[in-house]
Amino acid sequence: EASATIIDGKRVAKDIREEVAVEISRMKDKIGIVPGLAVILVGDRKDSATYVRNKKKACDSVGINSYEVRLAEDSTEEEVVNHISKFNDDPSVHGILVQLPLPRHMDEEKILDAVCIEKDVDGFHPENMGRLAMRGREPSFVPCTPKGCIELLHRYDIPIKGKRAVVIGRSNIVGTPAAFLLQREDATVTVVHSRTENAEEITREADIIISAVGQPNMVRGSWVKPGAVIIDVGINPVEDPDCTRGYRLVGDICYEEARKVASAITPVPGGVGPMTIAMLLSNTLLSAKRIHNFS
Ligand code: NDP
Repeated sequence: EASATIIDGKRVAKDIREEVAVEISRMKDKIGIVPGLAVILVGDRKDSATYVRNKKKACDSVGINSYEVRLAEDSTEEEVVNHISKFNDDPSVHGILVQLPLPRHMDEEKILDAVCIEKDVDGFHPENMGRLAMRGREPSFVPCTPKGCIELLHRYDIPIKGKRAVVIGRSNIVGTPAAFLLQREDATVTVVHSRTENAEEITREADIIISAVGQPNMVRGSWVKPGAVIIDVGINPVEDPDCTRGYRLVGDICYEEARKVASAITPVPGGVGPMTIAMLLSNTLLSAKRIHNFS
């Protein structure tokens, strides 16, 4: 029975972190500067706090200085923007990240717009997104999760040029930038979303599927063209009494079915997940190199 290559995001992410760490120590030796990442967390969502903690740990492990600001749920937009402005002006900070989602009373657009694009390591500023969408323009930074998806394809020597790619999901943080990136890599891209008719038929034409939906096991084996490559961004908790915490994480892709049809597939967990943080570290290093003109 045919079985797909498992794309080992955990291993690739580890390789990237090691590469980043080497570059940071070289930078420190040569010019005495280490990259700095500022993270702003508003409110007390448990999942957000976990993400922020993991980002800080990852920074420590490669030698990036991290600065964390925690603000109460009922903070004002102005307070958040003030912190951003301070970090914009702080020469020891090379990357600024506002953990999403923000509390409901805040205007996400207004807050993300306040991050100067040279330090926008998440790539969420509309100017960076606009440049990503345009031919002949270069964004300062590309959003970490979709960048991680493309990096996995590159590191497994999976051709993108001229291929049919289907992106499932059109969020600002994953689906839409993933589609732009694939197009920049010369794929022919279709975006499938919640209003798409015949999603299954469209997806079945894809040589490459990137799925960022948030629906457990939505994409069945029958949606996949034999030999297709699948990048599963979804991280979905499903109840599982056999797990100590009562749930386990699955992707958007029905893994057991799809791996029999695809030529390569990312597992969940251990696929795209670890790549996001690796890309954040890599973007922060890139920013510090640029700001200090170090190559
Ligand atoms: P959003 O909820 O913002 O976007 C989901 C997208 O999926 C929307 O565009 C929506 O369409 C589309 N969609 C919803 N239902 C269907 C359906 N039945 N058929 C087709 N399309 C559908 O999610 P995110 O993009 O933020 O995240 C997606 C998943 O990726 C989540 O599981 C999240 O946990 C995971 N994730 C993982 C990351 C990582 O690996 N580090 C980082 C970020 C996210 P419409 O636009 O029409 O509403």
